[in-house]
Amino acid sequence: MREWAFVALGSNLGDRTANLAFARERLARLPETELVAQSAVEETEPLGSVPQGLYLNQMVLLRTGLAPRALLEACLAIERAAGRERRTRWGPRTLDLDIVRYGALQVHDADLVVPHPEVPRRPFWQRELAELIPHASGD
Ligand code: ATP
Ligand code: CA
Ligand code: CA
Repeated sequence: MREWAFVALGSNLGDRTANLAFARERLARLPETELVAQSAVEETEPLGSVPQGLYLNQMVLLRTGLAPRALLEACLAIERAAGRERRTRWGPRTLDLDIVRYGALQVHDADLVVPHPEVPRRPFWQRELAELIPHASGD
């Protein structure tokens, strides 16, 4: 069975536009996965108190047969492939991939929370979701 998954892309290090393109390409090539639509790219201020450059953000809509945990693992692998180094939480990164929604599923595990709990506090995610939701029709 395939599900609709909304994945947020963010980058504020290196060639940000290229990093988003790399992420879209790699997501589109995942097994049992199709990249159905992509939102506009938006530049946003960093969150938290770590001084760092502006982010480019975008959201993509996937149709995927990957289970949520497999999708998370794939996202983390794509971040690593983009050269992401994990240092401080909310620090600068070449690529950040967050699963914002996965169908109607709710997950509350230590390493995976879906829907992403920050949606209510991130207006740019709300805009991107609104842009993509009309593309997530049919079963
Ligand atoms: P935020 O999630 O608030 O945007 P962040 O993206 O900076 O913060 P990271 O350091 O990228 O946080 O991720 C830390 C961990 O968050 C990941 O290793 C992953 O296990 C966990 N995580 C929990 N829920 C999700 C989710 N819905 N999508 C992606 N990662 C998640
Ligand atoms: Ca994030
Ligand atoms: Ca993340």
